[in-house]
Amino acid sequence: MEIEKLIYKEKQNCTGCIACVNSCPKKCISIKTDREGFWYPLINHEICIQCGNCDYSCPMLSDLDNFKNECNDIYAAINKDNNIRQSSSSGGMFQLLAENILDSGGIVFGAMFNDKWEVVHGYAENIDQLCRFRGSKYVQSYIGETYQLAEKNLKLGRKVLFSGTPCQIVGLKRYLRKEYEKLITVDLVCHGVPSPLVWQKYITFCSNGRKIYNIIFRNKKISWERYLIEFDFENSSTYQMPFDKDLYLKGFLSNLYLRPSCYSCRFKGVDRESDITLADFWGIDEILPDMNDHKGTSLVLLHTKKGDKIFSEIQNKIRVKKMNLYLNKIIEYNSSIIESAIYNPKKEKFFKELNNGKLSVNILIDKYTKTNINKRIYQNMRRKAASIKILKKIYRKILK
Ligand SMILES: Cc1cc2nc3c(=O)[nH]c(=O)nc-3n(C[C@H](O)[C@H](O)[C@H](O)COP(=O)(O)OP(=O)(O)OC[C@H]3O[C@@H](n4cnc5c(N)ncnc54)[C@H](O)[C@@H]3O)c2cc1C
Ligand code: SF4
Ligand code: SF4
Ligand code: SF4
Repeated sequence: MEIEKLIYKEKQNCTGCIACVNSCPKKCISIKTDREGFWYPLINHEICIQCGNCDYSCPMLSDLDNFKNECNDIYAAINKDNNIRQSSSSGGMFQLLAENILDSGGIVFGAMFNDKWEVVHGYAENIDQLCRFRGSKYVQSYIGETYQLAEKNLKLGRKVLFSGTPCQIVGLKRYLRKEYEKLITVDLVCHGVPSPLVWQKYITFCSNGRKIYNIIFRNKKISWERYLIEFDFENSSTYQMPFDKDLYLKGFLSNLYLRPSCYSCRFKGVDRESDITLADFWGIDEILPDMNDHKGTSLVLLHTKKGDKIFSEIQNKIRVKKMNLYLNKIIEYNSSIIESAIYNPKKEKFFKELNNGKLSVNILIDKYTKTNINKRIYQNMRRKAASIKILKKIYRKILK
C-alpha cells in the first residue's frame, strides 16, 4: 500500500489523522505509537484485501489543490458574551458556530480531554456539552472513530459541524469521499501539534501525585496576550504559569516536540478545504486597535457559501469588522497561516534522553529550551538585520 511506502520513506509524510484506519473495511490497520509518542498506521497484510481505501483516504497522497476553496472574506470578530469569550482561546467564535448547529438539531465534533487528560476527538449534542471543546489544547488530538460517527450522522440527514486541525479536516473529507450539504468544517490556523507522550509525562510531573480536576491551556485572567496555563487539583491547589515561563509551553513554542509532519505542513495557506478557519487575531493592536480589549479577538477566514451563511446567522451575537484589505499585515503577525514551524535540531537528542528515562521531562525541557544570552541577542538581531554582511559583523562582535 502507498501509505506504508510514504511512512517508510519519511515519518513527516504521515499526519496521524488516521483516516486510513477509519476507512479500512477489514479493520486490519492498527495504530502504532513511536518513541516520540505519535501515532502511525500499521497494516496487517494477512487480512488486507488490497481495496485501496486507505490510500484513497490519505490526505498526504491527495492532490490538495483540486479541493481547496478560495478565501472569500476575512474578519476580526468578538463574541459579545464575555463569559464565553473569557473561557475561549481567542474571540469565542467556535462556541457560536457550534451553538448554531446544535440549535437546528445537529451534532458537533471537536477536541476534548478524556478521563486520563489525554486529548481526543469527541462529540456534543447539547449546549452544556460544548464546554468540553472550548479552549485550545496544545497536544495532538486522537481522532478515534469520530470520522465514522460524523458520516453516520450525515447519512441520517443531520447537520454536522466537525472541527480540528487542517490535516484532520482534510482526513475527514477524504474519508467521506463526497460532499455533504449538511457538513460544516472548521479548521484552525495551526502552529503544529505537540507529542502526547511529552504531555502525559508533563502532567504526571506537574500533578505530583495530586488528582487533576481541570486543565486550562489559556487562562486569560491577566490578558489574552499574556495567557497562563492552569492546572486545578482536587485538593484545591492550583498551578498557574505564564506561557513564556511554563516549561511545557516553552518546549511547544520552541518546536521541540511537534509531530514530524508539522515541520513541513502541506495544509497551510489562506485557501483551505474547510468552510471556516479560526485563529487568534495576532497583531490586532497594530492593524485595528479598536477591536482589542485584551480579552481575545478572533481571526475568521470564510471559504465557502456554507461558511458565509452560518457566519451571517451569528451576526447579532458578535462585534465584527471586515479585514480583506489587511491580509498581508495579518500574515506578517501570524506566520502560522502560511508557514510551517521551524525544525528544532535539538529534538532528536531531547527524545533520546526522554526515552532513556534518566532525567525527568521538566529537567529535559529546561535543558533543551535554554538559549545562551549571546545566541538570543544574535537571533533577535538576525530577525531584524537586512543584510547578511551586517549580520556576520554583529555576530563576530558579540562572540568576542
Ligand atoms: C494545536 C493548536 C495550534 C494552534 N496554533 C495557532 C497559531 O499558530 N496561530 C493562531 O492564530 N491560532 C492557532 N490556534 C488556534 C487558536 O488557538 C484557537 O483555537 C482558535 O482561534 C479558536 O478559538 P475560539 O476562541 O474561536 O474557540 P476555542 O473555544 O478557543 O477553540 C475551540 C476549538 O479548538 C479545537 N481544538 C482545541 N484543541 C485542539 C486540538 N488539540 N486539535 C484539534 N482541534 C482542537 C476545538 O475542537 C474547537 O473547535 C491553534 C490551536 C491549536 C489547537
Ligand atoms: S487496502 Fe483496504 S483492506 Fe488493505 S489495509 Fe488498506 S483499507 Fe484495509
Ligand atoms: S491517512 Fe493519515 S494516518 Fe493514515 S497514512 Fe495518511 S496521513 Fe497517516
Ligand atoms: S501543522 Fe499541519 S500537519 Fe501539523 S497538525 Fe497542524 S495541520 Fe496537521
